Amino acid sequence: MKTTGTIYLVGAGPGDPDLLTLRAARLLDTAELVVHDGLVSREILALAPTSAELISVAKQRSRHTLPQDDINALLIREAKKGRDVVRLKGGDPLVFGRGGEEAEDARAAGVPVVIVPGISAANGAAAAAQIALTHRDASSIVSFVAGQCKGLSEQNWSGLAGKDRTLVIYMGVKTAPQIAEKLMADGLAPDVPVAVIENAARPEMRVVCGLLAGLPQLVTAHKIKSPALIVIGDVTARNSGLGDQALAKLTIEETQ
Ligand code: SAH
Repeated sequence: MKTTGTIYLVGAGPGDPDLLTLRAARLLDTAELVVHDGLVSREILALAPTSAELISVAKQRSRHTLPQDDINALLIREAKKGRDVVRLKGGDPLVFGRGGEEAEDARAAGVPVVIVPGISAANGAAAAAQIALTHRDASSIVSFVAGQCKGLSEQNWSGLAGKDRTLVIYMGVKTAPQIAEKLMADGLAPDVPVAVIENAARPEMRVVCGLLAGLPQLVTAHKIKSPALIVIGDVTARNSGLGDQALAKLTIEETQ
């Protein structure tokens, strides 16, 4: 009888294949089955052998997608057939990636799980846009929050943004107006600098900078689309390295 396979929860990083860990690249190279999210770039999927089976469980409003329970069940079913499963996720599997839920269900079903970390969008975007998430003169605390509609008003962000702090918001493009309103209601000054980084660490990356009160306009004026991160704090105003010719491809626009 075939033994149970292993589920590898693998971080694919923000999109550039060079930002995969060696462990992730090796697992992809020998993969038999890859179950991936929509955020995983085509260049990275191309690293799997042509013989590998690729299953997309992309979450897109426009078409039918697998609910999380069905994804967990799929991973477990395949592992129980004796196949190793590479479950590939954008960024890091344990940062807003529901990797925790997949690991819990797999463990409960008696399937071994290995977690391979990835470069989370915040780290990839910070490096690509040359924004220091912490800086001795500007920020000693960095927080990651999710800004999607569901539950936004119930989330307690007080104290996470402001002087000496950096707040990185994932999934906040659609709710930018509510986010700006929420932060200002919490007492944040309207002129706190912000940056929005779209498609970080990908060739089409854009970085736009402005002030908190103008965040909704910044997003609409530049037609920012997901995937994008919103970074709030003084560190976003220090990225003078963006003028370097090495980064000439970036679109940097100061508004207000
Ligand atoms: N596990 C992922 C996050 C998944 S949530 C990670 O660790 O990065 C999806 C959100 O991540 C997107 O809505 C966006 O806010 C952010 N994101 C992912 N890839 C990104 C990229 N290349 N550029 C900017 N934001 C990105």
